[in-house]
Amino acid sequence: MDNNFSEVYIHIPFCVRKCLYCDFLSFAADEKAKEKYIDALCTELMFIGKERCKTSLSSVFIGGGTPSVLPSDLIVKAMESVKDNFTLAEDAEVTIECNPGTVDEEKLKAYKTCGINRISFGLQSVHDEELKSLGRIHTFDDFLKSYDAAVNAGFTNINVDLMSDIPGQTTESWEKTLKTICELKPAPTHISAYSLIVEEGTPFAEMEEEGRLDIPDEETDREMYHMTSKILSEYGYGRYEISNYAKPGSECRHNLGYWTGVEYYGAGLGAASYYGGCRFTNTSELPVYMDDPIDSFKLDEKLTLADKMSEFMILGLRLTKGINTKDFTKRFGQDVMDIYGKQIHRFLDEKLLEEADAEEPAGSKMIRLSERGLDLANHVMQSFI
Ligand code: SF4
Repeated sequence: MDNNFSEVYIHIPFCVRKCLYCDFLSFAADEKAKEKYIDALCTELMFIGKERCKTSLSSVFIGGGTPSVLPSDLIVKAMESVKDNFTLAEDAEVTIECNPGTVDEEKLKAYKTCGINRISFGLQSVHDEELKSLGRIHTFDDFLKSYDAAVNAGFTNINVDLMSDIPGQTTESWEKTLKTICELKPAPTHISAYSLIVEEGTPFAEMEEEGRLDIPDEETDREMYHMTSKILSEYGYGRYEISNYAKPGSECRHNLGYWTGVEYYGAGLGAASYYGGCRFTNTSELPVYMDDPIDSFKLDEKLTLADKMSEFMILGLRLTKGINTKDFTKRFGQDVMDIYGKQIHRFLDEKLLEEADAEEPAGSKMIRLSERGLDLANHVMQSFI
């Protein structure tokens, strides 16, 4: 099936060890397994790039897991495979996720040389005791060294992931985390600020059940939530999605693509793809993937028109600019008010949604979450399912 995907996600499932809250597909592995994995990944990338992709890529995102636990030559090998088998747009955004303490200047320079131009650091907190309570492998000092190494290697586009609702965290410690990161020199271009979610099957879920997880209460959570956008905007970060903030022009293309329904291919273990109106997922069994990385994916679902409309609304409303009514008509041949008029009017009346003139095309409107609506985003979005 030919397709028009313009984004590729590459999953690297390896980590030094598991964090206590993590339910991502990731695990520790030896060097031999890592090498074999990259060979399988390159086979998949070669097949997909040569056989299925007819468009140029505007974004490549190497995520995980912790891609930076691989020796740099394996990342370079994966990138060579991308460049050999796909056409990369001249201004393509190429991101790699790194954990503090797993990179040095030499590794980062190798990333830069092979075409990676954006680093995303998983930091979470500037307080070592909070990092320890999450089961992270690094200290804040490790982060500072890794951040400096990235700057020295020539990276100017850097994201830092932060987390609120960490066990033991207070509004004061969260404020310090936000301000310390905003005051880095040079400051990161992008900050993702998510709150902790206790996922089933994780050590945190078990601790919560046994009453041993001391996470901030709801009132503190709301205080931290409001503090986040206030502080980040004071430091010049625009909120463009519920949990994502960027300096002007540094919004993450990979994220934006996902929220605006751009088709993407996910390569690697357990990676998800969306193209041709269908969703696919690669196997999450490592031996199965290694054995046949080309045929290890399965069709999850073919999206109906109703699914696609619902997804357009739910993902689009995550963006602070909201959805463009004419984009909806262009994509689905129907007026958004004919499909979702009831919900939209109700939330406009309740001031959870607001309407604004769109910059283009002429006469179109943006429908977006209001300040209060952002607070109650899940409640609003549920009505579009
Ligand atoms: S580093 Fe990220 S992917 Fe790895 S265990 Fe921790 S949270 Fe999960």
